Amino acid sequence: MRWWGWGEDGHAVPLPPAAEKLLQDELEADPGVRKRPVPFEQVSLAEPRLPGALRERLATALGAETMRDDRETRVAHAVGRSYPDLVRIRSGDASSAPDAVVFPGSAELVAAVLGLCAEHSVAVVPFGGGTSVVGGVEPLREGFAGAISLDLGRLSASVDVDRTSLTASVDAGLLGPELERRLREDGVTLGHFPQSFEYSTVGGWVATRSAGQASTGYGRIDELVEAVRCVTPAGELGTKAVPASAAGPSLRELVVGSEGVLGVICEATLRVRPAPAARRYEAWSFASFAEGCDALRVMEQAGAAADVNRLSDEDETRLTMALGSSGSTTEKLGRRYLRMRGHEGGCLAIVGFEGSEEEVEDRRRRAAGLLRAGGGVTLGHRPGEAWYRGRFAAPYLRDELLDRGVLAETLETATSWSNLGKLHEAVREALRAALAGRGTQPLVMCHVSHLYPSGASLYFTFLARQEDDALAQWRAAKTAASEAIVAGGGTITHHHAIGRDHRQWLAAEDGELGIEVLRAAKQRLDPAGILNPGKLLP
Ligand SMILES: Cc1cc2nc3c(=O)[nH]c(=O)nc-3n(C[C@H](O)[C@H](O)[C@H](O)COP(=O)(O)OP(=O)(O)OC[C@H]3O[C@@H](n4cnc5c(N)ncnc54)[C@H](O)[C@@H]3O)c2cc1C
Repeated sequence: MRWWGWGEDGHAVPLPPAAEKLLQDELEADPGVRKRPVPFEQVSLAEPRLPGALRERLATALGAETMRDDRETRVAHAVGRSYPDLVRIRSGDASSAPDAVVFPGSAELVAAVLGLCAEHSVAVVPFGGGTSVVGGVEPLREGFAGAISLDLGRLSASVDVDRTSLTASVDAGLLGPELERRLREDGVTLGHFPQSFEYSTVGGWVATRSAGQASTGYGRIDELVEAVRCVTPAGELGTKAVPASAAGPSLRELVVGSEGVLGVICEATLRVRPAPAARRYEAWSFASFAEGCDALRVMEQAGAAADVNRLSDEDETRLTMALGSSGSTTEKLGRRYLRMRGHEGGCLAIVGFEGSEEEVEDRRRRAAGLLRAGGGVTLGHRPGEAWYRGRFAAPYLRDELLDRGVLAETLETATSWSNLGKLHEAVREALRAALAGRGTQPLVMCHVSHLYPSGASLYFTFLARQEDDALAQWRAAKTAASEAIVAGGGTITHHHAIGRDHRQWLAAEDGELGIEVLRAAKQRLDPAGILNPGKLLP
């Protein structure tokens, strides 16, 4: 991935002309602004300061090629991919870069690295794809003799499918596309497609309890993990690959979501499914967000939800329509049908079904009946297919927005169905007030994307003209939204994890005693406290 943004050089997704106009009209963005990242030579980072003895011992243990401290490698591991991360790295600030990056190719070498770093009091940051949006991979070295990134990229050889049990034991460093490619060779899929799929890893998903776009149907990663192999400074924490167990509290659950502070996940046994033979994505329109939410709730509680269910609120629907490149299927069909049903505006829903031809047809028919009964009007499959084709495009567009001096950030939560509307309003209001109070007119949008019988997630995207102090502007918005989430009864994170950015709100979720329990586990597994300091635990 390029050091300052998403994807690789040469793979840009340009902003459609309609978007340029919308930025000017709604955000008062200056059309002449271009804030390109500084040239790589101007990126500043400190000289590596790993203790010489440790450097030598690591090189001996790993081999010279699996330890690097060149500028490119260190900058590539300095930050994750949140908005503030990108603001800083694009301005040339890589002051958080690790002193070195190691690439162990086995769990035994991971254990060796942890042992050596504990002896030398050097912080270790497990690094999967580096797509954290909560400050999860930025090395924080206060109180330590240095910091290294432990990149799992070389731990990516093994995919062992048990076709009978429908499980796959896989190395933690595998990236999404390679994992799916290998699983498809055996006719199975994990069905886990976060928007960061192209650049995130199995270990990162498990360590952050991630949710994919089709998680309503296939399950979140925490539901897909059967067992883990986790290497800690105190030894190996392995859990048994069994479908279910009553053997006390689940240690697997302790490792899942541990964000690199307890150990390094080297392998996971995952629950897979037969790869779908058929796929049908379609769009629906609802008169309002409240009406659409209710229809999705009824569908989910009846056990008839689709695999992908996304409902955009009024503002997100409006923006989606405006951004559909002129003449695109989304734009043409969306506009025509929304006008047909007499309420230009309304709310767009995408539902997607996967499975055998028969299953897809049966499930689709049942869901359609419920959606129609809930006030939905079908827009057909073309806008659905257009969404499916573009489902990984948004992060590329974010780079374009940053180029134009636009704050573009997302945050998420989940709550009960009965509280969903109230929380949606509260967070929207908090973001609007925080940004408008600083003199920038924001655009705040939201969608529901993960359904549960008792509630759903809310995913907010907000845009505003970037202030000179872009980080202070972001912090004000983030704090206001987080406070509104906590006060409004939502979880501080439904799938992005805690990292550094949500730490101060963990006590509101787990309570002080709960945090002490987690600290005690860390103390036992990582007595020197070298693993990902400053993350997860307040
Ligand atoms: C554009 C974009 C879209 C995104 N979309 C989604 C989405 O749809 N759903 C979603 O859930 N998230 C999403 N995310 C967030 C992010 O992609 C997820 O948190 C993902 O699971 C991180 O995986 P990674 O391999 O990049 O992990 P990293 O970013 O490298 O690491 C994340 C955290 O896990 C730890 N870690 C990583 N690997 C290991 C390991 N093997 N053992 C122990 N700890 C480890 C790290 O130390 C860090 O704390 C998105 C992020 C971006 C930038």
